[in-house]
Amino acid sequence: MYLKLYEDVFVWRNEREYFIYNSKNYKSFLCDSTPCLEIIYNRIADFNNLYFILIEEDLLDVSVKNWIDNIIKIDAGCVGESLDSFDSPVSFPPLLRIQTDIERIKWMYSQGYTGEMLKYLHDITIHINGSLNGNLYYARQMEYPIKTANFISIDVVDNLLLYVSKSVTKNICIIGNIFSYYAFDRLFKTIKIYDINVSICILFSDFIEAENAMNILNNINLKVVLIIDDIIGFRECICDYSNMDIQFVFPILKKDDISEVFDVIDLKKCNDYLLKPLYNGDNMSFFKNNVYLRKDDILNFKLNKREVYLHYVVNTNFFGKLIYMPDNKVYSNLNYSHIGENSELVTELIYREIVNGKSWRFIRDNGDCSNCLYKYLCPSPSNYELIFNKMNLCCTI
Ligand code: SF4
Repeated sequence: MYLKLYEDVFVWRNEREYFIYNSKNYKSFLCDSTPCLEIIYNRIADFNNLYFILIEEDLLDVSVKNWIDNIIKIDAGCVGESLDSFDSPVSFPPLLRIQTDIERIKWMYSQGYTGEMLKYLHDITIHINGSLNGNLYYARQMEYPIKTANFISIDVVDNLLLYVSKSVTKNICIIGNIFSYYAFDRLFKTIKIYDINVSICILFSDFIEAENAMNILNNINLKVVLIIDDIIGFRECICDYSNMDIQFVFPILKKDDISEVFDVIDLKKCNDYLLKPLYNGDNMSFFKNNVYLRKDDILNFKLNKREVYLHYVVNTNFFGKLIYMPDNKVYSNLNYSHIGENSELVTELIYREIVNGKSWRFIRDNGDCSNCLYKYLCPSPSNYELIFNKMNLCCTI
């Protein structure tokens, strides 16, 4: 008998089990490893066979027959008694090319095609200054101001805005207490000149303390991300946000916060909102019970072939991000060391991160995840894992 697997099908294994995932219809199944299945797996894994193998009669034990039934059930492949049974006796199994891609990037860079790097840049975050209520620990988990007296020079911000306006990246997030930024007027005049998506991320406590904050935000006419760091104050606040393009972000530290937040969302009629779990060093049980993924969650992820490929090679949470900080350092992720200074060319920083960096290519090939069957289906590692120093965010193992 011949077996052909379709090209959208992934076969993953560990020492005990196989996991077959069809990225076209998102169906999958799990089965135990047996000696006969092991022989079949090795044939499938041999790229030269192009997902097309012969299964001899003596290999067709119960485990293999069940396995083939399941393959057909999830439409992951087909069988036939002779080569004539197939339109084409080959399929192209998923193949990784990350090493060749990096070699190509190195070559392009060495030849002076530095502009090519810009296509890898998706988002720039600029911490223009700090806030008295800022918190670096939180900023390592989500977009959140830090506490510092430093600020980024307006000339640097101007340059970045100009740069971004000419590149494919048009997303910039400005974080800090904008109301106390020394060059506030110039910043917003410059933003208006360019055709870029700028969002302003501020704390509610800074907003409520600033004079005339509502007028300022209405006038700048930009997307505002308002982090509700004082829910009681927010509940009592009488500001009318209905004319603003605003997203309310509610940090969640414990389970009881959730019902309180939904009360406030109802009361204030917040349309665009986000609940964001936040680790404060003391609420691990909240994360374990409410944030950690369960096996069912993971098996319900519907990733197409391209999305699975991405998990093989890049961290989809981190890839393409640069973060400019008020101390003039640039990071690809605040949980790692800085990758350069804000005086350096953006293309140079991108190249450095792609070729030598740790964040953009941080995938689940370490620690607990390295031997897990679901490592390419699972979301890329998150900042929580870096904060916890624990390489899995699940209850699966
Ligand atoms: S977090 Fe890691 S160990 Fe848990 S299911 Fe995902 S890949 Fe597996």
